[in-house]
Amino acid sequence: MKLLEFEAKEIFKEYKIPVAKGFVINCPEEIDERLKEIGDEVVLKAQVDVGGRGKAGGIIITDSASAKEKAALLFEKEIKGLSVEKILVEEKLPIEKEYYVSITLDRSRKEPVILFSATGGVDIEQTARDNPDALQKVWIAPILHDIPPFMMRRLLKGVPKELGPVINALYRVCCEKDALLAEINPLVTTKNGVYAADAKLIIDDNALYRQGIEVNRDLTDRERRAEKFGFSYVELEGSIGVIGNGAGLTMSTLDQIDLYGGKAANFLDVGGGAGEERVCNAVRLVSEMPGVSVIVVNLLGGITRCDEVARGIVSAGVSQKVVVRLAGTNEAEGREILNENGYMMLDTMDEVITYAVREAQL
Ligand code: GDP
Ligand code: MN
Repeated sequence: MKLLEFEAKEIFKEYKIPVAKGFVINCPEEIDERLKEIGDEVVLKAQVDVGGRGKAGGIIITDSASAKEKAALLFEKEIKGLSVEKILVEEKLPIEKEYYVSITLDRSRKEPVILFSATGGVDIEQTARDNPDALQKVWIAPILHDIPPFMMRRLLKGVPKELGPVINALYRVCCEKDALLAEINPLVTTKNGVYAADAKLIIDDNALYRQGIEVNRDLTDRERRAEKFGFSYVELEGSIGVIGNGAGLTMSTLDQIDLYGGKAANFLDVGGGAGEERVCNAVRLVSEMPGVSVIVVNLLGGITRCDEVARGIVSAGVSQKVVVRLAGTNEAEGREILNENGYMMLDTMDEVITYAVREAQL
């Protein structure tokens, strides 16, 4: 789950990573009482969960006299399609230079990797593309809870040493807060020292309970309901809804859709032993996602009984075409129920997927 800048900065403060003095407002009026806490130069930062706010008009540098009026304008704006509900009001930092640092997980090496660049700021993506050598990388053995000094020296070649403690603190944030990404862009130097001028943290969804986060804000309403039902459910961008039982069968269904040139809209693993009601809920949930034009149900009947599955599909009664492949326990009964109710059951995975891909392209 992504944290907003001000939430990430609250965590940074606990770890002694310096951030600008500031406060959050929910409406322009709230700025009045606290504006005196900060100096005359003010930065207004829209708290929306997208990158590149600066370029999209979400960061306004102003003075205290016009801060309220500018805040009112910012509340009216949409930043990359998102409305502005909160603004972080900060004292403007006298930036000398902008650096980039992030820590993420290198999944292929199974190690955290630290990326650092002496040319940070809003053009970092461009830098990474045009001049990849400007981006230093070091991989840290996960048993270490500090970046060893020799690695830090390699990372910070020729740049101010005082960045080191901040990067080390960020590494601790990453480990202790179960972050999949911890990023400071820009990390800045000023005449008063180093500051995290921006903050980004993405917490591993599987660790939210450990972090005391009860609601995952990033989930869609459907994903949240799926979690309650105990389904593994993921939304993608295509038009074919996918229901399977077991991760292996579900994944291979997705692979085969891809192989035949189709695009899955989502996929749902109903798990073992799914009965009529569970299957009904699964089919309805998958069908509710906008853009789903056809649904593939690919289930193996072991403990799961095909007749129960067929009843679940029929009782879901969704408007999209549902193509089914069922094999195993009570297969014949399942086929009869589906046929009687006008549903299509095909014999092989190949057939259902070919059919669905064609249907989705119509
Ligand atoms: P982003 O565009 O969403 O990444 O938002 P940032 O918080 O990184 O701000 C974008 C840019 O605005 C930074 O790279 C800085 O150049 C500038 N900026 C942000 N805060 C300050 C500040 O306190 N002082 C100055 N001088 N510039 C700032
Ligand atoms: Mn930034």
